[in-house]
Amino acid sequence: MKKTRRINLISNKNFESRKTSLQLVEKLEQRGFIISEKYDNNAELNICVGGDGAFLRAVHKNKFPSIPFVGINTGHLGFFQEILPIDIDSFINSYIDGDYLVETISLVDAEIHTKKKPYRLTGVNEIVVKSIRSKVIHLDLSIDGNHLEKFSGDGIIISTPVGSTAYSFSCGGSVVYPSLETLQITPLAPINSKAYRSLMNSAIVPGDLTITIVPETRYSNSTLIVNDGIEFKYDNIEFINLKMSNKKIYRLNFDRNMYWNNLKSKFL
Ligand code: NAP
Repeated sequence: MKKTRRINLISNKNFESRKTSLQLVEKLEQRGFIISEKYDNNAELNICVGGDGAFLRAVHKNKFPSIPFVGINTGHLGFFQEILPIDIDSFINSYIDGDYLVETISLVDAEIHTKKKPYRLTGVNEIVVKSIRSKVIHLDLSIDGNHLEKFSGDGIIISTPVGSTAYSFSCGGSVVYPSLETLQITPLAPINSKAYRSLMNSAIVPGDLTITIVPETRYSNSTLIVNDGIEFKYDNIEFINLKMSNKKIYRLNFDRNMYWNNLKSKFL
């Protein structure tokens, strides 16, 4: 018996996305696919319609699924969203022909240890440790148990390779090719004084090393954790361990040159 091929369609609510989604449903159903707008764990593909923000929300809402994503871009220039609405037909043909690569996206995990209990977060772009209020924050940073710096400033970004073109890049971080298994530590407005000394530029470390951030005791209740733009507040933070996650997500790539084209048109 022929297996039914199911696809999840995840769209934001803007007009262009809704219009594109209707076209996708019609064209994919004509080719024999069953399209579900309610997340189906038995689907073979997640199509996300929107900008990079819509992709990030889809990944978080569906708990970092192993079903691969493909993005139809109705936002600005998208690093996650490869296909333009005018290219839907060629996307469907290439998908049916299997003419694509499956890219692995590495994620970052944070374990936030508070006096009471630990909490876990996973990020696609980055996890930021900063002050709740617009005040300077003091953080001790160690890598695999080796104390590196006493940071003073706005905060520290721990960015994944895909996140290197997002917030980290705006703060002077380097572009890191997505297939590299690394994390980038990017300082936010670091202050160097006699008491607090930290690197003024970002550092890129292997993803399997543990980065530990300890807020000075007086900041244990005023430290904000921002995961892909979503804010989290915890009481009595003792320390935060960050490393590359064992979880991975996947996206289909239909154009090997897309990354370089995106980089050039967005930043140069
Ligand atoms: P948003 O404030 O609506 O969008 C932030 C911008 O970041 C959008 O232009 C978005 O692209 C872009 N972006 C997201 N991921 C990217 C990536 N991997 N590479 C290149 N650009 C990327 O917030 P949002 O849409 O919910 O996204 C949350 C992200 O915003 C965070 O993960 C953080 O990286 C980023 N952010 C950046 C800054 C900054 O650069 N100063 C400050 C705060 C947060 P689209 O237009 O395609 O959606």
